[in-house]
Formats: sequence, C-alpha cells, structure tokens
Amino acid sequence: MSISKLDIQGVGMTSQRTRDRLMERLKAKGIKNSEVLRVMSLVPRHLFVDEAMSSRSYEDSSFPIGHGQTISQPYIVARMTELLLESDSLENVLEVGTGSAYQAAVLGGLVKNLHTVEVIPELYRQGRDLLYTLGYRNIRTHLGDGSWGWQDAAPYDAIMVTAAPDEIPSALIEQLKIGGRMIIPVGAQKSEQKLQVLTRSSESNYSVTDHESVLFVPLVGGN
Ligand code: SAH
Repeated sequence: MSISKLDIQGVGMTSQRTRDRLMERLKAKGIKNSEVLRVMSLVPRHLFVDEAMSSRSYEDSSFPIGHGQTISQPYIVARMTELLLESDSLENVLEVGTGSAYQAAVLGGLVKNLHTVEVIPELYRQGRDLLYTLGYRNIRTHLGDGSWGWQDAAPYDAIMVTAAPDEIPSALIEQLKIGGRMIIPVGAQKSEQKLQVLTRSSESNYSVTDHESVLFVPLVGGN
C-alpha cells in the first residue's frame, strides 16, 4: 500500500478541522482524558475505513470493514482507552481483535509496547501493513485465536478485548500481571453486552466492575 503525506493529513472531510470536530463531540459525550483526545485527533481514521466510507470517517459511528466485522465507534474507542489508561503501568499491553487496526493505532500512541491479535488472515495482513506504513514501530501484530491471549509476550500490564465473549476467557486473566487491568465487552447476546473492567488482585483473585452497555461482534474460538 502506498500512502502519501497528503493522504495522512487528509483533505476536506478528512482534514484536521473535521477531526477536531469529532474530538469536540467526544468531549461533549463525557470523554475527559486529554491524552486520549490528543492521540485520537492525530490518528487518520479515514485510512482505517473502506474508501467508500472515508468522507464519513470522522462521524462518531462504527462502519463495516468487510468479513462481517466493524471498526468501533470513536466514542467507544475513547472510552475503552480512557479505562485502560487508569492502569499503573503501560509497558506491555495486549489487544485482542485487531480488526481495522484503528484502536491499535490509538493505543500505539499511548503505551510502550502493544501486541494485537486478529483471527481473520485478511484483516491481520491489512492491519499489519497499514500500521507499518503509518510508522508504528511499537506495535506487534499477530495472527491467531486471541481468546487464548498471546502467550509469547505475556504477562501484560493491561489487556483490551474488542470482540465480545459470553464469559471472560480464563487464559486472558492468567496472562494479566497482578494489579493489571482488562477492558472487555461481555455478554452472550448483543442486546445484553456490558463493558467490564477486570482487575487482577492476586494469583487467584480478581474483581470486575460493570460499565456502559455496548455492541460488539462476538469473540470467536476458545474452549
Ligand atoms: N479493534 C477493532 C475492532 C474490530 S471488530 C478496530 O479498531 O477496528 C472485532 C475484531 O475481533 C474483528 O476483526 C474479529 O475478526 C476479531 N476477532 C473475533 N474473535 C477473535 C479472536 N478469538 N481472536 C482474535 N480476533 C478476534
């Protein structure tokens, strides 16, 4: 893929002014973390959506990215990132569900090292190439079933899951450092998903708090 400087900066409906307007919307919806807003205003979301959608890419909406998957709504990306940034340390972070790689790019601007796992080969390849072209050198992309986490780089200070399982996979809890946090949408049915934050308090204990209702594609695989 070849992306020019102009593509990255964007013109017209993809310009910095259009991006700044999205940041105002996110603030109005309750996003407070200025680091999250700063990084999100710099990520060229129009390059992560289908070209046919690029003029709408700074609306606060999710869009199809092919293969029955979606790029998450900016508000949800901001909210999950804000919750993740409450972790004490962000040296080594795991994302499950690379998808368009937009959330990965946002995290890449905020954490030291990011590992991201995608189960669909085509999306994995696209995400890997786009992140490389945009110059992210602290993100490692992996192809596989992320319900098993990514053992090679574990343990993690924080984990973000961007597809919804019925229950939190135990492999992911095991790959979290003591004191680490996981941000994950959980729920069997789309209408009943809740964003949860799990904090691992010791080798065998953890606590879970519920946040807003969300709508994610299912986390496949596992068991
Ligand atoms: N973070 C993404 C959201 C993509 S939607 C973004 O910013 O665009 C969720 C993604 O999770 C899809 O690409 C889907 O293929 C992927 N996924 C679902 N189950 C998975 C699994 N077990 N392991 C890894 N990826 C998975």
